[in-house]
Amino acid sequence: MESSSSSTFEPKIFLKPLNEEEVVEYLRKYGEKARLIAGGTGIYEIARRGLISGVEVLIDITGLRLSYIKKERDLLKIGACTTMSKMMLLSSSPSMSPSLFSEDSPLAAIGDALSVIQPLQVKNVATIGGAICTALPFFDLPVALLSLDSIAEISPTRREKVENLLTGYFNIDLKEGEFLREILIPLPDGYASSSFLKFAITGDDWALLNCGCAISLNESQRISSVSLVYGGGVGEKPRRAIKTQDALKGLYSLDEESIKRVFETWLHEDLETISDSRASAEYRMELAKVLGRRAVIKSAERASRRMRVQKKN
Ligand SMILES: Cc1cc2nc3c(=O)[nH]c(=O)nc-3n(C[C@H](O)[C@H](O)[C@H](O)COP(=O)(O)OP(=O)(O)OC[C@H]3O[C@@H](n4cnc5c(N)ncnc54)[C@H](O)[C@@H]3O)c2cc1C
Repeated sequence: MESSSSSTFEPKIFLKPLNEEEVVEYLRKYGEKARLIAGGTGIYEIARRGLISGVEVLIDITGLRLSYIKKERDLLKIGACTTMSKMMLLSSSPSMSPSLFSEDSPLAAIGDALSVIQPLQVKNVATIGGAICTALPFFDLPVALLSLDSIAEISPTRREKVENLLTGYFNIDLKEGEFLREILIPLPDGYASSSFLKFAITGDDWALLNCGCAISLNESQRISSVSLVYGGGVGEKPRRAIKTQDALKGLYSLDEESIKRVFETWLHEDLETISDSRASAEYRMELAKVLGRRAVIKSAERASRRMRVQKKN
């Protein structure tokens, strides 16, 4: 069964453009028959399951100069073809000190997500752009990026929240001729931090549920802003827990009981968890409450540590 379904994926033409204009030109020329390829790990998985058909042209975008991390004023810019391993390497290079995705950074959620993606061989070739554009709700890095309000720089000329691009299973809102060039992540100032948590049955399994959380605290350690996003068994795309976010605002960040109560009261209004062979919807909902609460507390502890350090300096 597997071999017959994978036989539907038999591209005839392999193109390796060296600039963005050529990519756009090829995408317009071949339309539905063309598919971009970066690390190839997502395409491989989809093709293996017989979920791609009619693709005759592969456009390899790894020849573009889109593998980098740059810090520019209040934005971190990551080229779409940067592999996960390279993200880890560049984030802790001496020019980025202190390390960009470490526990002491406001972008710690990215470090958390990268550390749970397995195996290493996949991280060595899988790109940040491919992780977003595969558009599967149980991937880890996109959920962390959404919680950090990441923005997609789309070639040739568009900017959009990554959250708005993800519209459903394998569905990404890119028009003909468009592709993802760069991801922009706002660098929050003040007492901010973030975290990402994944629950899976085994170490190398897809997330039964995952959760990204970014938080800012005010001087009196109360939550002044919070962003909470879930992936995994929550439907066709990652979901933002809007009512839960709103109810968390103003709470004292160390008041675990009140935080727990917010999740008990509001989360079921934000999320519709799914049942499948791995877990029931009810189980996932209970898991979502626990993961969300832990992610909020972890982010708040990190933000509070940053506050202590900033006040000392
Ligand atoms: C064995 C294995 C284990 C895995 N484990 C995990 C895990 O633990 N956690 C997790 O989150 N993920 C996991 N993954 C998924 C992995 O993260 C994705 O396959 C990977 O991120 C996709 O990136 P890629 O560069 O390989 O994309 P590709 O396969 O090259 O492309 C994927 C899709 O995105 C499109 N695309 C790629 N780049 C762009 C762009 N710049 N603009 C527009 N469209 C683009 C392609 O056309 C294609 O449709 C695993 C995958 C494998 C094979």
